[in-house]
Amino acid sequence: MERKRLDDNRLSFLDAIGIPPARVDAYDLSYEKTGGLATVIHRLTLTDLRPSCPNCGCLTPRIHSYTDKRIKHTSLSGKHSQLYLHHRRYICPQCRKTYYEHNPFVIRASQKISKDVVYSILDSLREPSTTFSSAAEDYGVSVTTVMNIFDTHVRMTRSVLGEYLSIDENHCFGRGADAYVCVLLDFRTQEPIDILPNRHKDELIRYFRSIPWEERNRVKAVCIDMYPIYRDAVRVTFPEDVKVCVDHFHLIKEFTQQADEVRLSVMRPIYRELQRLRREKRKLECLPDAGTAANREHIQTLDVEVQKHSRSYYLLKKFHWMIFKDPNDEIFDPGRGKKYNPSLERYMNFHEIREALCNISPVLCEVINVRGRLVELYKCPSGEEGSEKLYELIGDLRHSGIQEMRHFAGTLERWSLEILNSLDSIERYYEVQKDGGVLIRDRRIHNGIIERKNRVIKLVENTGNGYQNFDRFRNRLLYVLRKQAAYAADPVYESLKIPADSWKKEKW
Ligand SMILES: [Zn+2]
Repeated sequence: MERKRLDDNRLSFLDAIGIPPARVDAYDLSYEKTGGLATVIHRLTLTDLRPSCPNCGCLTPRIHSYTDKRIKHTSLSGKHSQLYLHHRRYICPQCRKTYYEHNPFVIRASQKISKDVVYSILDSLREPSTTFSSAAEDYGVSVTTVMNIFDTHVRMTRSVLGEYLSIDENHCFGRGADAYVCVLLDFRTQEPIDILPNRHKDELIRYFRSIPWEERNRVKAVCIDMYPIYRDAVRVTFPEDVKVCVDHFHLIKEFTQQADEVRLSVMRPIYRELQRLRREKRKLECLPDAGTAANREHIQTLDVEVQKHSRSYYLLKKFHWMIFKDPNDEIFDPGRGKKYNPSLERYMNFHEIREALCNISPVLCEVINVRGRLVELYKCPSGEEGSEKLYELIGDLRHSGIQEMRHFAGTLERWSLEILNSLDSIERYYEVQKDGGVLIRDRRIHNGIIERKNRVIKLVENTGNGYQNFDRFRNRLLYVLRKQAAYAADPVYESLKIPADSWKKEKW
C-alpha cells in the first residue's frame, strides 16, 4: 500500500467519488479481493476547515481525535468497495463540547452507505425487473436497508384527475375478492393516477368521495371494463353528466369467449364421432374376415367418413381465429393468392378456408356474421348513430338459435348505454400519412393503455415473488410506471410498517 499524494491524476478520481479535490487532504488507495475485486480507500482525510462550535459559536476549536468510519461507496469499481473516512473530531476550548466535522459522503451522519449508493439504489428501483433483493445483492447491502431507503425517499401520491379517466383491474394477489388491484389512469397523459388495493364497491365509493368535488366535476368520461361495480361506484360519486364507457377490447373479449364456446360445441361432437369411426374401422380391420368384399367396402366408407371428420376437426382447431377476426379484413379477399395446404390436400386462400369452416356448421357462419356487425357498430362515428345498429343486433341475437349468442345479447343489452357512450369521440387529431396527406381522426376513450401498463405490473409482480405490504407495492408500482417519478434527496418519509420477519417472504 502506497501513500498517494494529490496530483492531477488523483483529481479526476476524487471527482468520480463526488468530492471536490480541495476538500481532501490525503488518502490511500488499494485494491482488495473480498468476494470479487473491490476498491478500498483508506484513511481519507478531509481538509481541516475548523468549523465553529455548534454550541457556543467559538471560532477556535482544536482537533480532539480521529475515528475511522467505514462507508460503502459504489462509484468505485467493485460492489464491495469501501471508503474509510479518517473522521476528524473537534473540541471547543470554551464549552468543552466535542463534535465531528461534516461528512460529505453520507446523507445522515449515522449512515454507513454513501449518498451515491442510496441514489444508485433508488435509480435501479425504477426498473420493473429490479427487486428489493436484487438491488440488495447488487449493492452489497441488506434487503431491509433497500426497503428502508425506498420507503424513506419515495412517496407517490395520487395525481390530479384529468378529463378522461380509465379504470381497470389487474390480477395480483392470488384468489378471491381482494385478488385484484384497481388501476386508475389518466387517458390523455397515459400516466397512472393511483392504484387501489381492491375493487370492493364501498371502498371504491369511499375513495372517489375523498377526491375533492371540483376535481371530480372536471371529469367528462370514465372508461371501465365490464365490471358492474365500477359503473355503480362512478354513478354515485361523479357528476351525473359523466359518461361511463365500456372498453372496446373488453367487449370484444367477451364476444370472443362466447364465440369460442360455440366453436367448442361444434368441435366436441366431431371429435367424438371421429374417435368412434376410427375405433370401428380398426375393429373391422382386425376381424379374420376383413378381406371379404362386403367388409372392404364397409372399411372404405368408414375411411371416407374419418377423412371428412378429421378435416373438419383440423379446420376448427387450426383456423378457429377466423371466427373472431373482422370478416371484412383484407386477408379474406377472395382474390388473394392460394397456398398449398397439405392437410386439406388443396391450394386454398383464407377466403376458401373460411368458407370450408362455415360449411361445417351454420352456427359458425352466424358467429362470423355477428363479429362483422360488431365491427360495423364500432365504425359508427357516434353513439347516436350507432344506437340503431346496436339495438337491431341485440334484437336479432335474442332470437338466435345459439345459446351463447343469446347470452351475448344480454351482455350487450346490460351495457348498451356504456357501449354507445364509448363510440363518441373525445377529440379530433390529425394523422400525417406516408404520402404526405393528412387524415382527420377521432379519438375514443379506451383502456388499451392500461392493458399495456398491466404488462409492466405483471412483470413487477412476477419479479416480486409475493409481498405483504400493499402500500409499498403501490408506491413501487407508481414509481416504476410514472415517467416523471422522483425521489426525495433526503429521507423525509417515515418507513412503512412491515410485520416482523416479513422481508423473508417479501422480496419487494
Ligand atoms: Zn463551544
